[in-house]
Amino acid sequence: MKIVRATATHFAAWPNITFLELTTDAGLTGLGETYYTPQTACAFLKEVLLPQLAGRDALQIEAFWRASYDASHVYGNRGVEMRCLSAVDVALWDLLGQHTKQPVWQLLGGTSHPAGVPVYNTCASEGYAQGTPGSPRSSATSPRTTPDDYGQWSEGDAGLLAQSLLDDGLRAMKIWPFDPFAPAANGQYISKPDLERGLRPFRQIRDAVGDKMEIILEGHGYWSLSAARTIAEALEPYRPALLEDLIRPDHAKTLAELRRSTKTPICASELVLTRYGVQALLDAEACDVVMTDATWTGGISEARKIGVLAEAHNRGVIFHDCTGPATLAASLHLAAHAPNTWMQEMVRAYTKGFYRELADHSFELKDGRLLPPSSPGLGLKLKESARRRPDATVQVLYERA
Ligand SMILES: [Mg+2]
Repeated sequence: MKIVRATATHFAAWPNITFLELTTDAGLTGLGETYYTPQTACAFLKEVLLPQLAGRDALQIEAFWRASYDASHVYGNRGVEMRCLSAVDVALWDLLGQHTKQPVWQLLGGTSHPAGVPVYNTCASEGYAQGTPGSPRSSATSPRTTPDDYGQWSEGDAGLLAQSLLDDGLRAMKIWPFDPFAPAANGQYISKPDLERGLRPFRQIRDAVGDKMEIILEGHGYWSLSAARTIAEALEPYRPALLEDLIRPDHAKTLAELRRSTKTPICASELVLTRYGVQALLDAEACDVVMTDATWTGGISEARKIGVLAEAHNRGVIFHDCTGPATLAASLHLAAHAPNTWMQEMVRAYTKGFYRELADHSFELKDGRLLPPSSPGLGLKLKESARRRPDATVQVLYERA
């Protein structure tokens, strides 16, 4: 089976997402996706990556991955190179599934979580998906949609939000209340009043629902080691489940210093790409739980290996999502398969909002769990109604001569 055509679909309302569709000479179409810098991604796909598919058997995914990785090795295998390879890899897995009439989780070796994958809710609002890289994400300024989980914990009452999540069956949530205080001293220092302000939602959650809710802190890598230690120590009485990216994961030994200084487990990081980056984190004993993004790190093929690497070190794995619907679908196949899935990340403001608008899977929660799509391949397609949106554009990136 050969690829004869590749297209990228964009929606101006969600400017970071690239949907990649690969069509084969058997008439199948596979869907992939990546997030951030869509014009740059399309340029790399068109100039470098898609021509390498020419004449290849689309079902030989691993060989294509290795050839593509090796081809971009000379300029570093990071960023757009891996994000583009991710999008192609996910689309190839979708094609393999359609060709064999099996869902991806089954092709990976079946499910380890037959009742569904336990999930946590990242408490963003829908506007969070509408910012552009290099400028702060736009939750604070975007029009508010329902549910406005970000507004509820950042300006309202995080205790009420925790109760509303429990009502939805969700028993774990992620928030980032220290972010606004990082710019004051470039993340080098946090004042006592700012520390108290950052703790406020944690206090509200514990006061409202006790220990029924697990709380994950996202730090977005804004802090120095000493400020991160101050925050981690102040949080310990609130028993957070994980500290994610309080400091940047660039230097594994520094992250290991933070880990040794706190009782709270450390999660790192979707910002580290490929198994080689994650191996360095594990070698340095820098994290307790591995986070990876299937559509940044090298696709389903690479994210699966990262999950296995984490398992070999007795660590759990989380497949990142705060991006797009095909990423969540790919993640759910991986998370359902991996025996060491810690939880799957999801954003209910997205699954109830634009994921449904753009894609035909509803991501129905059942008792705090999500099932991967059961239809062949990724089990997710762009909706025809989405393709007719006035802000939709389609670029042809490859056509077989
Ligand atoms: Mg993160």
